[in-house]
Amino acid sequence: MDTILVVNAGSSSVKFQIFSVEGEGKLRRQIKGQIDGIGSRPRLRASRADSEPLADRVYPIESVSDVPAAMRIAGEWLRNELRISPIAVGHRVVHGGPDYDRPVLINHGVVAQLERFITLAPLHQPHNLAPIRSLLANFPALPQVACFDTAFHRTHDAVADHYAIPHQLYAKGVRRYGFHGLSYEYVAQILPQVAPEVAKGRVIVAHLGSGASMCALRGGRSAESTMGFTALDGLPMGTRPGQLDPGVVLYLISEMGMSASDVQNFLYRDCGLKGLSGVSNDMRELETSEDPKAKLAIDYFVYRVCLNAGMLAAALQGVDAFVFTAGIGENSMRIRARIVDQLGWLGFTLDPTGNSRHARLISGSDSRIPVYVIPTDEELMIAQHTLSLLLERPSPSARHERVS
Ligand code: ADP
Repeated sequence: MDTILVVNAGSSSVKFQIFSVEGEGKLRRQIKGQIDGIGSRPRLRASRADSEPLADRVYPIESVSDVPAAMRIAGEWLRNELRISPIAVGHRVVHGGPDYDRPVLINHGVVAQLERFITLAPLHQPHNLAPIRSLLANFPALPQVACFDTAFHRTHDAVADHYAIPHQLYAKGVRRYGFHGLSYEYVAQILPQVAPEVAKGRVIVAHLGSGASMCALRGGRSAESTMGFTALDGLPMGTRPGQLDPGVVLYLISEMGMSASDVQNFLYRDCGLKGLSGVSNDMRELETSEDPKAKLAIDYFVYRVCLNAGMLAAALQGVDAFVFTAGIGENSMRIRARIVDQLGWLGFTLDPTGNSRHARLISGSDSRIPVYVIPTDEELMIAQHTLSLLLERPSPSARHERVS
């Protein structure tokens, strides 16, 4: 069985999935797993796609001290215990910089290029690149593909790609990139099956998870994003503030004496739902909390989603459909109901029964704009891109090189 390994490596965890390649290039998810607690309490957990557990084991801290070590453990487990040797590996890479507008087959030159973007995403890019480098060193014949969170947004017009700052900074890469591109690309790919007519039109997609952003799609292509230079901008998130007056950052430095790394930690880890509520970064906990600050955090989240919906509607000059996706968007009927209610002025109405059942179409029959729930699948998107690039490669025989 030919398989593709999909890797999503972060600072303390490596998530992976195995897809089998079926007839006519179809992909079927077989295994989901992750190693988390890297450098603290390493633990491998994996299950089959139907949730049957396959592994749950802890490792001594010194044997999984970094991301490449975690990659090695996951690879050995797949090879030695499940007899799986993937024909290719697809990686989630947060930043493709200004030039990569699609996935790319990795070689040493590409890695060098992607290393240049570490300064644009210092918390994510190095961890994304670490397993790529170690696989390149240990299995040089194994095809690897980098799939970028930024690539889908490279279709933005210049006005959506710029900040009002001197051009030298734009030339250096200080641009409005937008993120969650693999999620939006997946939704844009599925939408023609769900609603063929609106898929050709103007669609706002709300990716509401621990990271959250919204994207304006015009004819299935990204026209605008609520995120910009980094994944800090736009909507409030689990621990990130979303849109913030840069004057606040100046205040933190000049009045609070914070260093650049203090500010970085603060903005990535201590703000958002967590900072505002003082209760939790998890929407489920906020929804069950009696604390008035938890209520304020939810109110703020809903308010900012609706404000940004107005902004994206202006970018698109109208809206033909609205889509919820990701952890909160797919699972919280209360948040969805509140957002649809607050967008009533745009002609949104809710079908409460469909919403409580997490139906695909949750708008009322009298809604001027259809509202959908579409579960996202970034990993499948990565597997699809990996397979396509593998099939496009000049030497077809190379498709059968395996990890030995
Ligand atoms: P990410 O992939 O960015 O880590 P997810 O898309 O998995 O995040 O979303 C995770 C978030 O989804 C959780 O932090 C939680 O707040 C929210 N979530 C998941 N299930 C529910 C639910 N049933 N009700 C409300 N929020 C939920």
